[in-house]
Amino acid sequence: MNDKAIILKRSDLRRYLVPVNTAATQQLFTDCLIIGAGIAGLRAAIEAAAGGCEVMLVCKKTPQDSNTWNAQGGIASVLGSADSFASHIEDTLTTGCGLCSRDTVEQVVKNGPGLVKELLEWGTEFDKTKDGSISVTLEGGHSYARVAHALGDNTGRAIAQALLNKVRQFNNITLIENYYTIDLITNDDGVCLGVIGQNAAAAAEIIWAKTTILATGGAGKLYRETTNPDGATADGLAMATRAGAVLQDMEFMQFHPTTLYIAGASRALITETLRGEGAVLRDINNNAFMTEYHPDAELAPRDIVSRAILQQMLKTGSTHVFLDVRHLDKNYLAKRFPLISELVASFDIDINKDLIPVRPSAHYMVGGVKTDSLARTNIENLFACGEVASTGLHGANRLGSNSLLEGLVFGKIAGRQAAEHSKHINSATGLQKFRYDIPQSDRSRLDTGDVLNSLKSLMWRNVGIIRFAKPLTEAQEIISFWQRYVLDKVFDSPVGWECQNMLTVCLLMAKAAQARTESRGVHYRDDFPQTDDAKFKTHIEFE
Ligand SMILES: Cc1cc2nc3c(=O)[nH]c(=O)nc-3n(C[C@H](O)[C@H](O)[C@H](O)COP(=O)(O)OP(=O)(O)OC[C@H]3O[C@@H](n4cnc5c(N)ncnc54)[C@H](O)[C@@H]3O)c2cc1C
Repeated sequence: MNDKAIILKRSDLRRYLVPVNTAATQQLFTDCLIIGAGIAGLRAAIEAAAGGCEVMLVCKKTPQDSNTWNAQGGIASVLGSADSFASHIEDTLTTGCGLCSRDTVEQVVKNGPGLVKELLEWGTEFDKTKDGSISVTLEGGHSYARVAHALGDNTGRAIAQALLNKVRQFNNITLIENYYTIDLITNDDGVCLGVIGQNAAAAAEIIWAKTTILATGGAGKLYRETTNPDGATADGLAMATRAGAVLQDMEFMQFHPTTLYIAGASRALITETLRGEGAVLRDINNNAFMTEYHPDAELAPRDIVSRAILQQMLKTGSTHVFLDVRHLDKNYLAKRFPLISELVASFDIDINKDLIPVRPSAHYMVGGVKTDSLARTNIENLFACGEVASTGLHGANRLGSNSLLEGLVFGKIAGRQAAEHSKHINSATGLQKFRYDIPQSDRSRLDTGDVLNSLKSLMWRNVGIIRFAKPLTEAQEIISFWQRYVLDKVFDSPVGWECQNMLTVCLLMAKAAQARTESRGVHYRDDFPQTDDAKFKTHIEFE
């Protein structure tokens, strides 16, 4: 990879979304504050607490409202005897299209098996083979069966539940639900001192912390079509950029090829492992088209399958394609994929006779807050892990089932580092007298609900699976217009703050997608279909 990143400037942003006044705000103190209770935040909390820290673990709603809870297919790790670290590393690097950090890939892959076995010891109900070992399955892009799954296709929930049970064993972890983090607070030297948020009673609250770990997850909700739950509104990315953290690889949004397409229903994911088990993609003319696009057909990397589906939809003038599982064993499917079987049955789809309508949707935010091998950001006292972080594991594309693994490995690292770092800080005193005022704006008000709907559609149309220069420019102009009328206001509830965060992050994504005039990984430019290693085998960063 070229060592020098391409640096873009983020637009000028107001430092805080809300006024801050320490004299008039309730304040709490802790050693380590963790924002987010998905796999990364939960694992970090356990490690920080084991390291002797007083930990506060906050989440927007409940831990169920996370990408982790919704993860289906499994967690990738070298668990079978035929498999090897070298193969998992190679598959990850190949999928990442030249932008992975080899050191990070090795770090994550090699730490995987131990941490997955630890999850088993902590009660994760992984599916087992007859001989009692963890059962692994094949997924697109993997050379060996190495995806461990739990409760069939309920892997995320099973892991989160086991981690939550473990968290509850520590009396130095306080889990605070319904806490909306608005902004990271930094001092004049740019050091992170904690956050300002809104607690369950809708009151402003400051939490001062010796160390803060950002584990706020993904950004799928920036798009009209997404597999992500409601909370994935890119809050962590937005608050990090306002605080001065470096964001990288923002052009790389991974689209999942197969989500259930029933108008009016939410876009539930139909896991990739179903294709691993032999499901076939057909267009509306019953044509099994994937071999026309890639020799690995249904098991080609996600970006290729997503684009193939989109192109086939355009060719046939259809809103979707189909997944065909009619030739697979019904009893086996019901046992192996209970969630999906139940879901499609609820729409009267009989998988023995009927095809399942699917289309791609936004799924995984590859880019994020730039971190090093110790989960450190460029901001002192601030660590990041999980989907919000950009560790260099995924490069330009994420290999399926590598993200739970990344959250687990870097969650542990972040927790340990935060605990170590906290020991060198005397106390989380915060800022004694701190006041940040925001003058009232006299610009017109826009309806945030309306802006959000239009923003998500704009992102889907103009910054979606297939990109061109003109729609990308148009997207930036429209988002900048909305920003002028929304970012100047002060809101008093999450709906408004989420809208401000989403507008902030969408602009960065459109800018990065505009700047990368090549195609690589999940970023496909129809006007620049080739990969241009000479210019772009490097990251795009926002400083
Ligand atoms: C449907 C679906 C299926 C998937 N399947 C797989 C799979 O099989 N294998 C795999 O490896 N990956 C899968 N993924 C991706 C994977 O689930 C995620 O990348 C991973 O779980 C992210 O974990 P995380 O801890 O970083 O974030 P999350 O699990 O999303 O947790 C984020 C946390 O941050 C909190 N938060 C966010 N903003 C704020 C705020 N402002 N204030 C307070 N708290 C906040 C949220 O409340 C939440 O608790 C899937 C994703 C989805 C959506």
